[in-house]
Amino acid sequence: MIEKVLIANRGEVAVRVIRACKELGIKTLAVYSEADVESLHVHLADEAICIGRAPAVDSYLRADRILAAAEIGNADAIHPGYGFLSENAKFAEQCHACNLIFVGPNAEVIRRMGDKTTAKECAVRAGVPVVPGSDGAVTDERAAVALAREIGFPILLKAVAGGGGRGMRLVHSASAFPKEFSLARLEAEKNFANGAIYFEKFIEEPHHIEFQLLADKQGKIIHLGERDCSIQRRYQKLIEEAPSPFLDNELREKMGDAAVRVARECGYESAGTVEFLVDKDRNFYFMEMNTRIQVEHGVSEEVTGIDLVRWQLLIAAGETLPYEQRDIALRGHAIECRINAEDAAKNFAPRPGTVELYYAPGGPGIRIDSHVYGGYRIPAQYDSMIAKVIAHAENREMAIGRMDTALSGYVIRGMPTTIAYQRAIMRDPHFRKGRYTTKFVGEFSARMPSESLEGMGQGSGNLQEDL
Ligand code: ADP
Ligand code: ADP
Ligand code: MG
Repeated sequence: MIEKVLIANRGEVAVRVIRACKELGIKTLAVYSEADVESLHVHLADEAICIGRAPAVDSYLRADRILAAAEIGNADAIHPGYGFLSENAKFAEQCHACNLIFVGPNAEVIRRMGDKTTAKECAVRAGVPVVPGSDGAVTDERAAVALAREIGFPILLKAVAGGGGRGMRLVHSASAFPKEFSLARLEAEKNFANGAIYFEKFIEEPHHIEFQLLADKQGKIIHLGERDCSIQRRYQKLIEEAPSPFLDNELREKMGDAAVRVARECGYESAGTVEFLVDKDRNFYFMEMNTRIQVEHGVSEEVTGIDLVRWQLLIAAGETLPYEQRDIALRGHAIECRINAEDAAKNFAPRPGTVELYYAPGGPGIRIDSHVYGGYRIPAQYDSMIAKVIAHAENREMAIGRMDTALSGYVIRGMPTTIAYQRAIMRDPHFRKGRYTTKFVGEFSARMPSESLEGMGQGSGNLQEDL
């Protein structure tokens, strides 16, 4: 059994993992940067060790210091959360070499699935369709352009090691290819320390639909249904929901099966997600696999009643999954809105600052996952996501109503947030009908008068006025 877990992360996900550990009676060791002294995860953990300065490269990305902290604090496992070192195969290996349990799949699997081209090969071996594109990373530019012509423009350049919606460039014609290709390489080199680029046919108006998986060390793999994550901005998810308004039971079963086959092919264990694109004719294509807990995992927890982080920990400790696929029933509908400290009127520029007033909504079916509290200073060095609101209800319409009400009563003062923007989406007729693709946000923003975006900045007055 695991006795003490080091949480190699910060923010809401660190809080989420600490809570799961506490419920299991596992001791918790937080690590934090100098910018996070007052962060909630530091307060909630049993112990905390400072691992360096504010920039992530000096702290949350410093594998050596995290391992030293585990040694000093006598942890026997490390939970990496999402982002940072969560999909770093070398880190997983180092944990293992230090006799620490890495809460996730083994290093070999992370390496194979973290490289998007080898991940696609794995999907092909599993008999799962992939988006047509280059055969692995582009090495010969001339041959690549010829192949892109054959497949048909537009194509999407993607970083082999990409993540977080970064490192993608749309190319509309052969003449634009060389310039975009060299820009993509530079960007990928800078962001992921790996300049390798591949390309895919750009699927027009697709749905992003992903399947949540749980796999134990004994070889049992089940899926927990899908999440529709098509509401995105700059290839980053804003809203996620389960079940997807676009899937019927037949397609759900087919895609769920395909996701399990990919996981089986790569020897997966722990919680993981297989992401698909679905085109308007309902053809689905494997896109990538995330070998970690995802931001939007709570949506699946609400509709299945299964605690994914708890199971990550139990699986890491060697426990067998007690569920069969037929035991997984989806109950009702869940929607998540990501709340970012950003100014919607200024092209969603991040706006860190001090939270002057904080009031979180509650009531039936409302879950807030956040590390924010009144008086907290949001540091500028990290991701701008500061909270997730999840609404769960009997059906989609009720879940939207619940989300709308929750957002209207959510007060975060001191900096602009995306609460009002998310609320406007909840009231959008296209969203309400469930008819949307990854193009939704672009179209929605174009429909919106600029004055209403202006009005989405900072709230004024006191709590009563805000509500
Ligand atoms: P999810 O797939 O869980 O929805 P996101 O794509 O939103 O997650 O990414 C989760 C977090 O991890 C974000 O903070 C994102 O910036 C970060 N992230 C994901 N992949 C990478 C990566 N390869 N390199 C750096 N940051 C990443
Ligand atoms: P990341 O690792 O950053 O999450 P993904 O490969 O999952 O990158 O792609 C992120 C998003 O980019 C997808 O959710 C989708 O909206 C868009 N996208 C990716 N590939 C394609 C494609 N071939 N055609 C159209 N859109 C795509
Ligand atoms: Mg993705």
